[in-house]
Amino acid sequence: MPPYAFFHKQFMPLSEAKLGILTQALHYGTACFDGIRGNWDSDRGQFCLFRVRDHYKRMLESCRILKMNLPYSVDELCQLTSELLARSGYREDVYIRPLAYKSSENLAIRLHNLDDDFFIVVATFPTYLDTEKGVRCCVSSWHRVDDNMIPPRGKICGLYVNSALAKTEALENGFDEAILLTQGGHVSEGSGQNIFLVLGGRLLTPPSYDNILMGITRDTVMKLAKNELGIDTIERPVDRSELYVAEECFFTGTASDIAPILEIDRRPVGTGKIGEITAALQKLFAQVMLGKTPEYSDWYYLFSPESAGL
Ligand code: PMP
Repeated sequence: MPPYAFFHKQFMPLSEAKLGILTQALHYGTACFDGIRGNWDSDRGQFCLFRVRDHYKRMLESCRILKMNLPYSVDELCQLTSELLARSGYREDVYIRPLAYKSSENLAIRLHNLDDDFFIVVATFPTYLDTEKGVRCCVSSWHRVDDNMIPPRGKICGLYVNSALAKTEALENGFDEAILLTQGGHVSEGSGQNIFLVLGGRLLTPPSYDNILMGITRDTVMKLAKNELGIDTIERPVDRSELYVAEECFFTGTASDIAPILEIDRRPVGTGKIGEITAALQKLFAQVMLGKTPEYSDWYYLFSPESAGL
């Protein structure tokens, strides 16, 4: 089966899904997206779309920021996603990318009085950061974009130039990932991940007002830490130097999972090995996201591509 896309309100082979070069979003970054994990369970022959409703709720919020009206409810978006997966024939873990964009073909810089369109594509799940070995980071020379520049609570395409600048700088300097600070010098997040520290045995993570994306993995980790390990997370501004004295540190994200950070700015984090709390959270997260933990059934959207009747 060829890879399929949902594009122009219909399912079609990915190779036929094309955009005109005058499309407004291509010129000005006026688009928003999300990234959703689909886990394949070969024993049960079903996919578990992890917290897909929350991803689509966030995507609809990003659309509101950009004055876009998607003509679909969260339930309809979930339905379209499962139909796309069934048509595409994947039987492995996948990464689902919905994207809404200003589709008018003109060169006006604005948000209003333009057409919007929407597509969904699916790819095999990428390996983004090494979650087993851990990662080495630097604090980026690029600051995180502020809420009154391009709001980072939206997954807005143009915002990712900021992430790409930081990521490339980090990789070209021999690190695996960048940590961006706010304009005021507080820790914000990675190029595509939220960040957590363990300090005094408690979890600490930057708050929404330090220009982070309100990550769904971040929320999952806070709930698992509280419910399963009895550890509270404090959301407060984090100093750069707290990165250097933390006992443990890790990133969270849909593509990054829980990625232990073992070194920051050429200083070992804690012992320089994966810490106990990080390892415990990694183990819990790996179990929960497979769709087999009844206590967290609200987070699962399960469906079998065989019974989709396509
Ligand atoms: N921050 C940024 C900038 C991101 O791109 C992502 C990835 N979506 C995250 C954080 C993590 O968010 P989530 O856990 O919802 O994938």
